Order: sequence, then C-alpha cells, then structure tokens
Amino acid sequence: MKYSPNDPILLTSSLHVAEARKAIAELVDELIQENRLINNADRMETVALNQAINRILAEDLLSPIDVPASDNSAMDGYAFNGTCLDNSETIIALKVVGTAYAGKPYAGKISAGECLKIMTGALMPDDCDTVIPQELTVYQNDSQIELKQNSIKPGENRRLRGEDLQKGKPAILAGRYLRPSDLGLAASLGIATLKVQPKLKVAILSSGDELCQLGEELSTGSIYDSNRYSLTGLLNRLNLEIIDCGIVRDDPSALKAAFIDAAKVADVLISSGGVSVGEADFTKQIMQELGDVGFWKIAMRPGRPMAFGTLKTVPGQTSKHKTLFFGLPGNPVAVMVTFYQFVRSALLQLNGANQTEPPLTQAISSESIRKKPGRTEFQRAILGRGTDGRPTVKLTGSQGAGILRSMSQANCFVILHHDQGNIAPGDWVDIALFDGLL
Ligand code: AMP
Ligand code: MG
Repeated sequence: MKYSPNDPILLTSSLHVAEARKAIAELVDELIQENRLINNADRMETVALNQAINRILAEDLLSPIDVPASDNSAMDGYAFNGTCLDNSETIIALKVVGTAYAGKPYAGKISAGECLKIMTGALMPDDCDTVIPQELTVYQNDSQIELKQNSIKPGENRRLRGEDLQKGKPAILAGRYLRPSDLGLAASLGIATLKVQPKLKVAILSSGDELCQLGEELSTGSIYDSNRYSLTGLLNRLNLEIIDCGIVRDDPSALKAAFIDAAKVADVLISSGGVSVGEADFTKQIMQELGDVGFWKIAMRPGRPMAFGTLKTVPGQTSKHKTLFFGLPGNPVAVMVTFYQFVRSALLQLNGANQTEPPLTQAISSESIRKKPGRTEFQRAILGRGTDGRPTVKLTGSQGAGILRSMSQANCFVILHHDQGNIAPGDWVDIALFDGLL
C-alpha cells in the first residue's frame, strides 16, 4: 500500500510510529526512482579508501585476488605430511629440516619422517598439509620433535588458498554503509579507491522568533538555538554535506524564501520548530504552495508533531530533483528522537544503503517506569551492569522533551513500544545504544 503525505490515515491523532516509518520509506523509495538516485553510474564518486568512512558503497566490490593468496599455517608449530597419522596413542618422531617464516618461505623439500618449523602465516610447503601447534608436541628440540599420532588430524591448522574469499567474488555488497572494518578489508585486497554514492546535501534550519544565535546576548524570553548544533552532530556521523541555513523568524515570507533557497541546493531539508499545534497552520499555509507535505500527529513521546513530504522543483534549482522535507518538532530532545526514528534511516535509504535499521538490544530496568499503552516512548537512560553481571538500565532523571541534559547524560534510549504498559523493576526492556548512532 502506498501513502501520500496527506493521506487521511497519516493525519489521525494517533499515527503509529511503525506506520509513519513505513510511509516515509515508501515516499523515499518513490523519490529514489523518480530522481534515479541508485544504480546510476553518472552519480557515483570514486574516493580514496581513507576518505570512504561512513560513505555508501555504490557497486559490489569484487575481490581481485584469492584470500589467502596461498595455503599457509594457522599456527606457530611444525608442518608435515599427515598421511603418517593413524589416530593411535603411538608416539612418532619427526626430523626438523628447516624453518618457514611469514614472508620468508622454505624452499627445500619435506620428505616422510621430516617436518618444518613454521610460523603463523608462513607459506605451507607443497609436501605438507598439517601443522601441529608447538604446545601439542610431547618433545621438541632444534632438530627433532615427538608427537602422539592422535593429538592431531591430517589437514589441521592449514589455511587454504581462497578460504576467506575467492577471486572475482563480492567482498562487500553495494549499499554497505562503510565501516572501519570494510576499509581494512578493501585494503587487504590491494584496493586503494572505492566507488561510493555522492554525499547527500542536507540543509538545516531552525525556526522561531525566540531563537538567539550563539555569540549574541540572550534577551528576555529568548533561548539559544541548540537544535542546529545537535542536528549538525547527528548528520556529521553520516558523513554528509551539511548546508546550514541558520535561524529563520516566524514570518511567512522569510520562511518561504528560506525553504525555496534550501530546495535549490539540497537533497533534503530538515527544519525544527513551527510544527506544533498553534504554529502548524502558519507553516501549513506556506507548505501548500511549496510542496506536498503532510502534518502528522505521531503516537510517540517525545516528538508528537512532525511534518514530512517533498518540496516541489523550484525555479533556479540546479537539478530537477525534488527535495525531501522533514519538519521536526522544536523541542531539543524531540528533534534528536525524531531524527533517530525517522530521519536517519530515510537519509541512509535515500543514499542507497541496504541496512538502515539501527540495532536494538535489551537490558533489565532497574526501576519502575510509568507508560501508557497507545504510544511509543523514547526514554533516555544509562546502560550499565548489575552486581550479577547482567545488563541493567537506569533513566537519566527528568524526561521532559526540552531537557537536553537527559540526552547528554544518557548512553541509550529505552524504547517502550506502542502497546507496552508500565514497567516494573526487573523487567527486560528494549534499548538502542547511542554510540555510533547519535
Ligand atoms: P515549536 O515547535 O516551535 O513550538 O517549539 C517547541 C519548543 O522548542 C519551544 O519551547 C521552543 O522554544 C523550543 N525550540 C524551538 N526551536 C528550538 C531551537 N532551535 N533550539 C532550542 N529550542 C528550540
Ligand atoms: Mg516555534
């Protein structure tokens, strides 16, 4: 089923978080098709490996080599031909004829009754298929070792050529949100550059008459604009191009002009403030002229009001691409929660990532938490360990939507799902860790 942002189902007073996520994913998918964003060779960028962190791989990375490139030893020990083993208790002696080091292979032959002292990673001689680790021998000196026949099976501790990865097979699939291990993996294959999706251009702005720039003195009733800074931090984690459109006053023509300017240059516009009851009508009026945007009341806390949709192509826009729009609530915690729940995955999806869901885990609540069924709650908490070693989680005090300190002290969200009720001490709850996420 497809939704349009103004679909009545999305405008109810209690839109389920899962429904909102689904509607967003469907609209992003349409935008991808319309704007030909994925599998489009013209859009791919080639970047050096050390610039590729948190970018999205644009095509499968095929291995140009077998890994490992040749058979080698998995252990420090002695290599020999395992045909001599008969699985009995009998002790046999093997003569040590030389040593092979990683990067310094042994050139000679190993005959029956002989073995080669071998280091981890050293090339396995053709005549050998088995390595007995040093500690499993019953006796050893420089010229001879002794071992029980049943202490090892033929073929053990030998890494086979192509065992990890075969030449021509994909090492990393297109759509990977590249992590440090992926860069190491590419390097281990001798690959110095990667084809990635272009950086999304994401414009951010804060709206509100009460907002004050950093560096200015606070006048009565004004507050510092913190949302642009938390949003910048969140976006930087995704290695995007950020276009900071600053603070915009609650004035229709100023807001309209700012939206048009952002739509000219950005793939995505994220605003905060101006979508709550009382202000929404004002923003709605502007959005009607500029795009196809729905105003949602989501059954969640914090983060109830949110606008979402697309901005039309505007005159002067450098490409014909529509701009994805998120109108986040103004409350600083609600901004971060709605970003985590809706924006992050939409940005990754829009940029071709194949894995957009943040991982969840569980911990034991160390306190009772009040929760009404019928909305999803994101409480800020600290994950730790109980005296029995099990994971425990404790809320960071007062959980008001404007209390940023509750986020700053926390290291995870406790996610209380739509149908869940009160939590008792000792109950298991779902949590999402901030690290690497927020
Ligand atoms: P609004 O959604 O515009 O009604 O804002 C809801 C609350 O969030 C109000 O208390 C605003 O003052 C506050 N707020 C809005 N924008 C920001 C911002 N950029 N930084 C900090 N607080 C904000
Ligand atoms: Mg406002």
